[in-house]
Amino acid sequence: MNPIYASLGTTIFEAMSARARETGAINLGQGFPDGRGPEDVLAEASRALLEESNQYPPMAGTAALRQAVVDHYRVHQGLDLAPKEVIVTSGATEALAAAIFALVTPGDEVVMFQPLYDAYLPLVERAGGVAKLVRLEPPEWRITAEALAAVASDRTRLLILNNPLNPTGTMMTDAELMLLADFCVSHDAIAVCDEVWEHVVFDGATHRPLIALPGMRERTVKIGSAGKIFSLTGWKVGWMCAAPPIAQILAKAHQFLTFTTPPNLQAGAAFGLGKDVAYFTGMRAGYQRSRDRLAAGLEKLGYAVLPSAATYFLAIDLPRSGVNMDDVQFCNWLIEEAGVVSVPFSAFYARHPVTSVVRLCFAKQDATLDAALERMARRP
Ligand code: PMP
Ligand code: GLN
Repeated sequence: MNPIYASLGTTIFEAMSARARETGAINLGQGFPDGRGPEDVLAEASRALLEESNQYPPMAGTAALRQAVVDHYRVHQGLDLAPKEVIVTSGATEALAAAIFALVTPGDEVVMFQPLYDAYLPLVERAGGVAKLVRLEPPEWRITAEALAAVASDRTRLLILNNPLNPTGTMMTDAELMLLADFCVSHDAIAVCDEVWEHVVFDGATHRPLIALPGMRERTVKIGSAGKIFSLTGWKVGWMCAAPPIAQILAKAHQFLTFTTPPNLQAGAAFGLGKDVAYFTGMRAGYQRSRDRLAAGLEKLGYAVLPSAATYFLAIDLPRSGVNMDDVQFCNWLIEEAGVVSVPFSAFYARHPVTSVVRLCFAKQDATLDAALERMARRP
């Protein structure tokens, strides 16, 4: 057996959802909405399933979806991409795997930030990469020039950025993006930007993609996910965008991971990406309302809630909430004694974890959030 997988646990999201299924606890752990998603997007996918081809679509994605990704990013982020720079994948997870396998050669150093999405490190190590981890400190979770300089070397090849950042719910500032762009340019490194949360941003904020910064157009892989944009996390339709020399090598990794992605779901995603701006602002407003509902309820119960600018998540600070437990103890207590599932922040660290913060998903209907709050009135 490959030792990387032999020593790996089950991903925290599956583990926590399994506990919710076993115990009947309310699941605010794994990030998924409990609504149906946009009816017109579902209708288009269902129409395409019945009326169009269900045979292998082109390897890099249907022409309609690749064009829709290009048009979408022109309208929403002012980017000028070409369809040949877009490769459709089976979720952002596959895009991450393809990008890392395509771009990392054994011994290459890969800069990543902790807390980090749990897929990154095993994929980098499986590719033979050497992780160089930058630790972000609560409650601001900011990247500094000093921290970046400390991990740089002449073997730096790749930087993996998740922006907006899961699990903190923070967005990179313009100053941080400038730092990252300068770092990549001066070390001749490629940036893999996991931007699956690009549309789920609040309080009137706009997402700024790293690929738009000076010097980054030719050295960035921008990754997106229809699952997050359309509140349909089970769809697993994603894409990666990069300049042609990089896109060509990404396509070679993709061809032996999944090769293609179900054509009817691609049709649904292509339709959805073309929806009016009003859809996206409405979606954001809905989640912002849910964020505020859960945050206000938790604060009323005496929990200290960290600010959430984006994603489906908010975090609570245990010591400041008067909870005398670490994050794993508290998550276990919350499932067993209150019947609510959450996710401990320590699951997002390879080493030196932050153990004082817990993540909750607010992408739920009011009744679900209210029921969870009622249960959480029972305090440790
Ligand atoms: N990256 C991040 C940061 C995520 O939060 C997620 C899932 N929520 C993914 C990647 C995976 O996306 P997908 O379901 O499209 O594979
Ligand atoms: N991204 C989701 C989360 O953070 C989970 C994705 C998954 O379960 N693979 O909860």
